[in-house]
Amino acid sequence: MAWDFSTEPAFQAHLDWMREFVREEIWPLETLDLGVEQLDRAMAPLQERVKERGLWAAHLDPELGGQGYGQVKLGLMHEVLGSSPYAPLAFGNQAPDSGNSEILALAGTPEQKERWLHPLLAGDLKSAFSMTEPDTAGSDPTLLGTRALREGDEYVISGRKWFSSNASIADFLIVMAVTDPDARRYQRASMFIVDVDTPGVEILRDVATMEHPHGGYGRYGGHAEIHYDDVRIPASNLLGAEGAGFLIAQQRLGPGRIHHCMRWLGVSQRAFDMLCERATYREAHGSVLAQKQTVQNWIADSAAQMQAARLMTLHAAWKMDTEGASAARREIALIKFFGAQCLHDVVDRALQVHGSLGYSTDLPLEAMYRFARGARLYDGPDEVHRQSVARFILGSYEPPADGVPSEHVPTRRAAAQEKFAHLLDAVTAND
Ligand SMILES: Cc1cc2nc3c(=O)[nH]c(=O)nc-3n(C[C@H](O)[C@H](O)[C@H](O)COP(=O)(O)OP(=O)(O)OC[C@H]3O[C@@H](n4cnc5c(N)ncnc54)[C@H](O)[C@@H]3O)c2cc1C
Repeated sequence: MAWDFSTEPAFQAHLDWMREFVREEIWPLETLDLGVEQLDRAMAPLQERVKERGLWAAHLDPELGGQGYGQVKLGLMHEVLGSSPYAPLAFGNQAPDSGNSEILALAGTPEQKERWLHPLLAGDLKSAFSMTEPDTAGSDPTLLGTRALREGDEYVISGRKWFSSNASIADFLIVMAVTDPDARRYQRASMFIVDVDTPGVEILRDVATMEHPHGGYGRYGGHAEIHYDDVRIPASNLLGAEGAGFLIAQQRLGPGRIHHCMRWLGVSQRAFDMLCERATYREAHGSVLAQKQTVQNWIADSAAQMQAARLMTLHAAWKMDTEGASAARREIALIKFFGAQCLHDVVDRALQVHGSLGYSTDLPLEAMYRFARGARLYDGPDEVHRQSVARFILGSYEPPADGVPSEHVPTRRAAAQEKFAHLLDAVTAND
């Protein structure tokens, strides 16, 4: 039997160190209103300590300076990092840089790795992933409208994107654009590396969102709108083969979704701790809230949802480690919508139990709530993942040949009477 839910002691020691480090050194930074440069300065000494501890950029293989841990260990690390929006930055695996470094590691040429990947891993460059467009459905990227036309030894990119996270502070963008509109659906698009300083790249704004209602320009976590106005890039900036955009995206998104789900559990746990703490001291209607059955239900339901989401996510990670990304597609689709709902529900209950304090910015719960809402959209909306899960499952079912449900009791009874006729006859005879 090989079912084992334990963590090996040496790795548990890393997790324990991380938990303490994140809580003591990174949580306090959240309370300060830091700009990009201030945050980078505050992070630098923390990043050094993470490097000394050998935990920097752990999502990559050892030859690229990572640890080659695999998805289960990475997942456990992301659970710790999820407790603070700044923690991934201290550990060199913040989205979207971590996913983009995986793309470059996977599909980049030696020259591309030298120029973009190594400085990205060192923390000297920042990146963004630019796929979603305002005018076509992001949930069906085969509809992409942005074009990349080959002209001699260049590509010319034109189109409009938005929600390119971190693009307004990025040095380069990984852009998904259609290279052959007549190819098969999943072979139409390709990925390109685009330096933000290339003429024609117009980063218009960080879109104002629920998470950052004031929009603006140039912040970590901003979601930029970009106009690509006949942007000429060298053909050598193509990533992988022409038409391989979806293939590469699929390989990037699998691990990324595991990390998202584990980070959401880090957020959920923090909200859950606030929920439980509040229940112990707030009195109303003759008792502390902990003695109200509704609040007890919230605690139990949250614990159950988090436990389920955690086990499902670690199972998806294990499947990816043992059988590969493709074999884990169903499990990943399951956790993407289940984990996002878990995050939403736990944060919502924690906010509710705090009343007006929960709604105020005196606690981080309202920000967590706004963050949680986005989780049901990015990397594929809930409905698309539910559809994928249902398709996977239905693929192993067939309609009954005679149109009668397999479990139809009268039909089964008739078959059982026939099958066991000799026994039934014997019983009757003995009577
Ligand atoms: C916080 C955040 C960060 C993001 N970061 C990035 C980024 O860095 N780079 C990037 O390229 N994009 C990013 N996105 C964009 C994100 O990936 C898209 O929003 C997402 O893919 C959905 O695309 P859409 O917004 O065009 O919605 P649409 O595709 O128009 O879908 C709208 C709605 O239609 C419904 N729907 C769609 N398909 C189905 C279906 N099959 N069955 C039932 N209902 C369906 C769903 O309810 C869905 O929410 C980010 C989004 C958010 C919110």
